[in-house]
This record gives sequence, C-alpha cells and structure tokens, in this order.
Amino acid sequence: MRIVLLGAPGAGKGTHCKRIVDKYGLVHLSSGDILRQERANGSELGKKAQEYMDSGALVPDDLIVAMMAGAVDAVKDKGFVLDGFPRTVNQAKSLDESLKNLGLQIDVVLDLEVNDSVVVDRITGRRSCPGCGAVYHVKNIKPKVEGVCDSCGGALVQRPDDVEDVVKNRLTNYHTQTAPVVDYYKGNNDVFEVDGNKSIDELASVIFGKLDSVNS
Ligand code: AMP
Repeated sequence: MRIVLLGAPGAGKGTHCKRIVDKYGLVHLSSGDILRQERANGSELGKKAQEYMDSGALVPDDLIVAMMAGAVDAVKDKGFVLDGFPRTVNQAKSLDESLKNLGLQIDVVLDLEVNDSVVVDRITGRRSCPGCGAVYHVKNIKPKVEGVCDSCGGALVQRPDDVEDVVKNRLTNYHTQTAPVVDYYKGNNDVFEVDGNKSIDELASVIFGKLDSVNS
C-alpha cells in the first residue's frame, strides 16, 4: 500500500504512522524527520531549510519535491506512508507526476481532523527523543521517568518549533497552504476523513479498519 497521511501539525500523524508501518510492514517517510536529519548532518539542504523550519514556515516546494522524490524512489518497491508530505497542492501534483513516471499511484489518503485548540495543547506539551524518534507528551503520554526515553534511555527534548508562537504560525500555514491538498486529493483519490480528537487506540482501530478494507 502507498498511503498519504494528512493532518495539521500535532494531529497525531507521527504516532499513527508508526502504528501503520508496524502493522502493515510499510516504510515511514516523514519529510520533517528527513529535514531534521539533513540539518543534523549539516548538509546544504539542511542549512537551506533551517530558517524556514525554525520560524514555522514551509520549506520551498522545489527543495522538498526533490528530497521526497529521492526518498520515494529509494523505497518504491515496498509500500510506504508519507507523513508531512505533500503540504502544498504543488507538492501533491509533483508527487503524482513522479509516481506516474514509476508506474505507481497513491492507494489511500487519510486526513486526521483535529481542533486548533487541541493541536496547540498537544504540540506545546510534546517531547521527543532525538536518539530513537519516540514521542511523548508532558500530560498525555508520560515516560516512566520524567525527561528520559522509555525505549532507549535518551534525554527528551522539546523541538524548537514546538513553542507556542511558532505553533500558531505553523497552524496558519496549515490552513492556508496545506488544507487545500485535501480537496486536491478528493478530485482523484479515496480520501478517508477521520476524527483525530479520539484517543490514540480508538483512532488506530478506525484507521486499521479503513486500511484493511483497502488492502483486502
Ligand atoms: P513536521 O515535523 O512535519 O511538523 O515538519 C517540521 C517542519 O519542516 C515544518 O514546519 C516545515 O518547516 C518543514 N517541512 C516538513 N515537511 C514539509 C513539506 N512537505 N513542505 C514544506 N516544509 C516542510
């Protein structure tokens, strides 16, 4: 299966992608994680992306499209879940084009819908492990020992773009630039809109139900 997971920052895309890839044996392609890795490696792309990311702006389409076309090409024979990409209609069109050139297409689009107030609370409370990528929340998903990753023992951090002012900027950009991607997909694909305000387990079972019906 080739899946696109859409939704505002903090809608739970990362959490649900991990569950989906574990259950269906797919590859998780998160544009945000790839960009953070590029920055950690000090690459040219990482340097170019830095200023946009830290202010909550979108990185320009040409950089993202080239980066993600390479990532998709590398795993084209396996199924994958795209997380955080595409984030503009231009990116979605370029993705369709590059998949078409490979003789492939997106099988299912999931859209996680969450209220803005929930998003702000979720993101500003989010803490993540730079070592293994595990994600926690100061109130809702606490690690066993405060500030320490359950999985690998690493020190948990708050992403610099998870502070309130930057989150508000990211949400504004989501509504203006990314929400239209849902309508773009509705023109050509099956789009499943799911209520992202539900608990993680409830939502996972709704998502698995949808994916099982596509996969059967
Ligand atoms: P995320 O981890 O998905 O919230 O992404 C973190 C940041 O990386 C975003 O706020 C953007 O600055 C940048 N970014 C990630 N994916 C994209 C994309 N598809 N298009 C443009 N910028 C992106």
